[in-house]
Amino acid sequence: MSIVVQLAYIFSALLFIFGLKLLSSPATARKGNMLSSVGMLIAVVVTLLDKDILSYQWIIVGIVIGGVIGALVARLVAMTSMPEMVALFNGFGGLASLLVAWEGYHRAPESVDMFIAVSTVLSVFIGGVTFTGSLIAYGKLSGKVNGKPMLFPGQQIVNFLILLAAIAGAVVFSINPTENMPVFLGLLGVAFVFGVLAVIPIGGADMPVVISLLNSYSGLAACATGFVIQNTILIVTGALVGASGIILTQIMCKAMNRSLGNVLFSGFGSGGGSHKAQGDVTGEIKPVSAEDAFILLEAASSVAIVPGYGLAVAQAQHACRELAEHLENNGAEVQFAIHPVAGRMPGHMNVLLAEANVPYDQLVEMDTINPIMETVDVCLVIGANDVVNPAAKEEESSPIYGMPVIEADRAKTVIVMKRSMAAGFAGIENLLFYKENTRMLFGDAKATLQALVSEFEN
Ligand code: NDP
Repeated sequence: MSIVVQLAYIFSALLFIFGLKLLSSPATARKGNMLSSVGMLIAVVVTLLDKDILSYQWIIVGIVIGGVIGALVARLVAMTSMPEMVALFNGFGGLASLLVAWEGYHRAPESVDMFIAVSTVLSVFIGGVTFTGSLIAYGKLSGKVNGKPMLFPGQQIVNFLILLAAIAGAVVFSINPTENMPVFLGLLGVAFVFGVLAVIPIGGADMPVVISLLNSYSGLAACATGFVIQNTILIVTGALVGASGIILTQIMCKAMNRSLGNVLFSGFGSGGGSHKAQGDVTGEIKPVSAEDAFILLEAASSVAIVPGYGLAVAQAQHACRELAEHLENNGAEVQFAIHPVAGRMPGHMNVLLAEANVPYDQLVEMDTINPIMETVDVCLVIGANDVVNPAAKEEESSPIYGMPVIEADRAKTVIVMKRSMAAGFAGIENLLFYKENTRMLFGDAKATLQALVSEFEN
C-alpha cells in the first residue's frame, strides 16, 4: 500500500483521537463530532481511491441504499428512541465486520495462515454475538420483546458450555482453516445463539450498559476484521470504538454501583413489577397546583432542577430554560443536577439542555449537588423518577439498592413534576413521592412548566 495512503490513514486516526477528546465536554462536542466525521470521510475516500476494492458500481448501490435509509431514520426516529437506534447500529456494525471477514476467508481459503484464521474467528464470533445480541437489545428497548430479564435453570452452565464449544471450534478452525468450512459455519451459528443467550437475562434499567458493551464489541469485531483484510485504519477505528465503549460501560456500571459481572449475569430486576405495594409505603401523596408551586419557587433563593426522561418526552427543555431564567431574575441561584443515566442514553440530558441553550456552567454532576442538597430551598424534579429514588439508599431489598442517586429528598422542599403515579424505567415505586417535604405537581411537563412561566410573567 502506498505511503500516501498510510499517511492519510495516520491523519484520519489523529482526527478520530482528537475528536474523541473533544467529545468529553458539551462545549466542544460538536467540534469533536465534526473532526471525527472529516477523519472518517478521508479514510473512506482514500480506501476507495486505493482501488483495492470489489467494484465501484456495487459500492455506489450500497451508499445510495444505506444513505436513504440513514437519512430517513435520522429524520424519523425520536430522540427518546436513540438507544434502540444505537442498538441496531451496533448490530449491523457487527454483522458488517463478520461479512467482510467471511469474504476475506472465502475468497482464498487456501492462502489463510494461522494469524488470519484467528483474526477471522474473532471477527466472526464477536460480530455474530454483537448482531443477535443487539437485535434482542433492540427488541427489549422498543417493547417488541419482553423487556424483563429472562432466566431459566442452568442458564449460566449452558452459556459456559456454548463458550467452550466456540473456543474448541475456533482452535480446530485456526489449526487448519483451509478444509474447515463446516467448523466455520458451526462457529457462526454458535455466535448467533450466544448473542441471544447473553442478552436475554438482562433487562430493565441495565439495558443502557448492555448497549454500551455491544458498542464496544462492534468495535472489537471491526478491529479483528482490520487484521483479516490488513487495513490499518479499520484496526485503529475498531480499537478506539472497543476501548471507548468499555470505558463508557465502566462509567455506567459505576453510576449504578454495580459490577459488570453483576449486570451481565444477575438477572437484576427479574422479580419485576412494582417493588413495593402501595400499601407498604408510609407517608402520603401531597398534590399541589401550579399556583402553589409558583409560590414555593418565588420564595426560593436556591433551586436545583433535576431533569429526567419525562422532560425529553414532553420536549419541555425550552420551557424549562425559560423558567430557570425567571428564577434567576427573581434572585435565585439555579443549578441543573445531571444524573449519568437520566433519560434514555448517556448524555441525554446534556444534549437536551444544550439544545435549549442552558449555559454549561449551570450543569452540575451528582457528586457536586448531593453534598449541598440540604442547603437547596426547592429541588424541582422534572420527569425524573429512578434517578431520584431514595429506595437506592434506604431499602436493602430494592432492586436499585446501592445505585447512586441524586438525593433530592434532602432538599428543604421537593416539587416532583410528572403526569401520574406511574413508575419509571426500572418499574419500581418511588419513596420520594411519599416524603414529608415532597409536593407532587401532576401534569405534562411542558404544559406545567409553561403554566409556571406564565405565573412569573403575570
Ligand atoms: P424514569 O424512566 O425513571 O422516569 C421518567 C418519568 O417521567 C416517569 O415516571 C413518567 O411518569 C415521567 N414522564 C413521562 N412522560 C412525561 C411527560 N410528558 N411529562 C412529565 N413527566 C413525564 O426516568 P429517569 O430519567 O429518572 O431515569 C432513567 C431510567 O432509564 C433509569 O432507570 C436508567 O437506568 C434507564 N435508562 C437510562 C439510559 C441512559 O443511558 N440514560 C438508557 C436506557 C434506560 P408519568 O408517566 O407519571 O408521567
